[in-house]
Amino acid sequence: MDYFNFKNSRLHAEDVSISDIVEAVGTPCYVYSRATLERHWHAFDRAFGDYPHRIHYAVKANSNLAVLNVLARLGSGFDIVSGGELARVIRAGGETGQTIFSGVCKQDWEVTRALQSGVGAFNIESDGELELISEIAGRLEVQAAISVRINPDVDARTHPYISTGLKQNKFGLSEEHAMEIYLRARKAPNIRIRGVACHIGSQIVELDPYRDALEKVLDFSERLAGHAIEVGEIDFGGGLGVRYRDETPPAPEEYARQIAEQMQSRGLVIPVAIEPGRAIAGNAGILITRVHSLKHNEQSTFCIVDAAMNDLIRPALYQAYHEIVEVAENGEGERNSYDVVGPVCESADFMGKDRELAVRPGSLLAVRTAGAYGSVLGSNYNSRPRPAEVMVDGSQFHVVRGREDVSALMQLESTLP
Ligand SMILES: *Cc1c(COP(=O)(O)O)cnc(C)c1O
Repeated sequence: MDYFNFKNSRLHAEDVSISDIVEAVGTPCYVYSRATLERHWHAFDRAFGDYPHRIHYAVKANSNLAVLNVLARLGSGFDIVSGGELARVIRAGGETGQTIFSGVCKQDWEVTRALQSGVGAFNIESDGELELISEIAGRLEVQAAISVRINPDVDARTHPYISTGLKQNKFGLSEEHAMEIYLRARKAPNIRIRGVACHIGSQIVELDPYRDALEKVLDFSERLAGHAIEVGEIDFGGGLGVRYRDETPPAPEEYARQIAEQMQSRGLVIPVAIEPGRAIAGNAGILITRVHSLKHNEQSTFCIVDAAMNDLIRPALYQAYHEIVEVAENGEGERNSYDVVGPVCESADFMGKDRELAVRPGSLLAVRTAGAYGSVLGSNYNSRPRPAEVMVDGSQFHVVRGREDVSALMQLESTLP
């Protein structure tokens, strides 16, 4: 569900016409909907009802300060994977005490800054990390709360690049390995054990992988209990999918119900933390692009647009499908089947293939479901400045990231003396 709909035959974000936004900021531009972000966050929050839970929005899905701030105002926690993301959470007014630090390669400076700013917990994912956190916490004379991320070896049945819970993946630790860390952590003076963590992948559209993963996490938690280690929280990660095309991901209610039922069947009420990213931000953003020209060859008809793989890399990186619609309902000009491609010098630079569209040079197109893993994965390839980002709030819109200037691209560079 989102708030991008046609009104008077023009695409709108909430109550604002996309054409008005383009007039003000140009193309390409990302447009986010505050109401959609809030709706998705509340859907997760409500889904758990009275079951003790916390929602830690995964910052990496979309780390724009306005997005983080909107969620912080709802009382969301955050899941971060770098010191840079921590700085964003702080700048956006997020609570560091409700922030979890995940990631396979935490650097000294990142751990230091996280401890200094009172981050809620670390999800440990690699050897030596316990000692690093313990040593820095000792030096700073603070307590560090930790969970260990176990790799439950379940197949999330998603794209291999976003599958993280198989034993061949670099993420998490085997149960044996994790157990060793817990036994060491128990004795470390500046460490407090918080719980167990796992995250099995992204764009997961079935409940079964989650069921299997939780069974393993709960079995493991019982083993910890056998060592008198109390599991105060299960951090179950993120990964719930969204509808890009015809997927039917489980609703947050079904996902939460399954978790609660699995707990209940063991007589447990362990508080649950979840880290949704895509499911909150994905449908809350679109990428607007303008048709530059149309071009035919023997094989295909190309619709060349001003947005490219440097703005939205998901089609090139994961062969991902994004729905593309005309901003003028039913389009303009002759209807045809197009490969929608960008200006970058790579054949992987496409937004969509074989799309039925009625367009002419100058027409506006919206690439839907671009709110997660869109702008954050952007680059300056081909020395293309990053697009503007706008957030719509009811009948108002606000530029939440200005269009990058070409001079900014060269700011840190210099020539030899
Ligand atoms: C990427 C990631 C998430 C968010 O995944 P989504 O598929 O966007 O919900 C949550 N937790 C961790 C540890 C991650 O790496």
